[in-house]
Amino acid sequence: MSTPIIYADFNGIMASSRNENLSAIPLDSYGSLKDLTNQQIRLKEGMSLVIYADSGEGEDLEADSTVYYDSKHKWWMAEIDNEKIRYVPSHDNLWNQKEFLCLQCRQDLEPYFSEHGRNPETHCPNCGLSILTVTQAP
Ligand SMILES: [Zn+2]
Repeated sequence: MSTPIIYADFNGIMASSRNENLSAIPLDSYGSLKDLTNQQIRLKEGMSLVIYADSGEGEDLEADSTVYYDSKHKWWMAEIDNEKIRYVPSHDNLWNQKEFLCLQCRQDLEPYFSEHGRNPETHCPNCGLSILTVTQAP
């Protein structure tokens, strides 16, 4: 199985709370949630993800990461080696994916979000599943 490719906001980069030689990026942005949900990936301790972010004209930043739950921030982090961030051609297929497919029933919830807004308490109007299911704490 190939490693999933998931958006992460590299602006949120901080020191890893478990290894002083590494950095970590919180997977707390909507882009991360959308990619995880569309690819039906629930975050798990020790999981490998390739994370990416926009870097301008046709290019993305990318890094191999290991996922861990940070109990202080109460959020999932993608731990990376700062020195191994690479430049790759833009992930156009992911950037162009506007839909948000419910983890369970696969209904596109983007029109619902546009009409009703979206917050941590939002549930799928079709099957009732929380939109944050993929990021549930361990
Ligand atoms: Zn649903």
